[in-house]
Amino acid sequence: MTVLITGGAGYIGSHCCVAFLEAGHDIVVLDNLSNANSLSLERVAKITGRKVSFEFADIRDQPKIESVLKHYKCTAVVHFAGLKAVGESTQMPLAYYDNNVVGTHRLLSAMANCDVRQMIFSSSATVYGEPKFLPLTENHPTGAVNPYGRTKLMIEEMLRDVSASDPAWRFGILRYFNPVGAHESGLIGENPLGIPNNLMPFITQVADGRRERLSVFGNDYDTRDGTGVRDYIHVTDLVEGHLRAHEVLASGSASSNCLTVNLGTGTGYSVLEMVRAFERASNKEIRYVFAPRREGDVAECFADTSLAEKTLAWRAERGLEAMCRDTWNWVCKNPSGYSSEET
Ligand code: NAD
Ligand code: UDP
Repeated sequence: MTVLITGGAGYIGSHCCVAFLEAGHDIVVLDNLSNANSLSLERVAKITGRKVSFEFADIRDQPKIESVLKHYKCTAVVHFAGLKAVGESTQMPLAYYDNNVVGTHRLLSAMANCDVRQMIFSSSATVYGEPKFLPLTENHPTGAVNPYGRTKLMIEEMLRDVSASDPAWRFGILRYFNPVGAHESGLIGENPLGIPNNLMPFITQVADGRRERLSVFGNDYDTRDGTGVRDYIHVTDLVEGHLRAHEVLASGSASSNCLTVNLGTGTGYSVLEMVRAFERASNKEIRYVFAPRREGDVAECFADTSLAEKTLAWRAERGLEAMCRDTWNWVCKNPSGYSSEET
């Protein structure tokens, strides 16, 4: 009864490893380390007091996946592995379709050959495109606006087709809103390489002096202070949602063999509200300037969480203060991310 966690050395995956190990599950992590450092798994072992089995492999390597599934007697997969940078996906669409779509196809084929038929998949609120109404319910129309989002939508559709072909399959498609924060120990967290695209990592780098100021992309949106509003969710809450989804699917009590569920808090915060919250948590000034809107950004995006509450008996518990405090704790303890231990 082992759970294969693809991309488990990454930001969300490493937190998920902690949640699953602490809940008593056996896991094996498979990661090609294209965007991660295996030190994250040593930290997972430190937090949980349990050894983490690790396979350095690519999800596109179907024979290898099959041998891992068999060797560890896996019964389920939590699938985080994928490329996730929106801007990069517009520059290198083929790499995104190959890694995300082809990779998931190979992973599913390996699972089918090994009779492992349960998967939780990391999808994203980006599949909703421009919101036609708020909060976003799972039946809001989909329409991704960039190659990254389209890979998520294509994978979702592949999973729905496979689930319809055979009721033995069980899928949990989890649509994340904006994951932020870090484990409360400060031992694992987000470790972006280069200039961060996302708001929270950028703010932390202003707070610790690595960047001079934040550019706030747009102050003329139709929101309470003119800046963009998002539904930020603590990564620990997010991975607890995975644990619940895994348990619901494994118990056979799910209402369908393909659940599609939002993981968000239901509350949106503006960029300026995030800046102020981070200033309080870090006791640092976050300097910012207003800059033009970022292409492709929506004004406001937050989740309807009622389906998650109903189907998973789960809801996010941690507020903005914990998100900022835990992020700052991780950054202060690891000023160069995991790379500080390498040198
Ligand atoms: P991450 O980059 O930290 O983790 C992804 C992991 O997958 C990395 O460890 C990377 O090395 C690995 N990987 C990538 N391609 C691989 C391949 N072909 N074979 C094996 N391993 C591979 O990203 P994250 O933020 O932890 O995101 C995890 C998942 O959640 C991704 O699928 C992402 O698209 C999705 N997601 C993330 C967010 C977010 O804001 N972080 C939001 C919505 C959805
Ligand atoms: N944002 C910003 N400056 C940055 C990065 C992001 O003003 O350097 C804004 C962005 O326009 C959006 C919000 O912060 O309104 C969240 O952006 P992020 O990229 O983190 O998430 P996403 O837009 O993908 O939901």
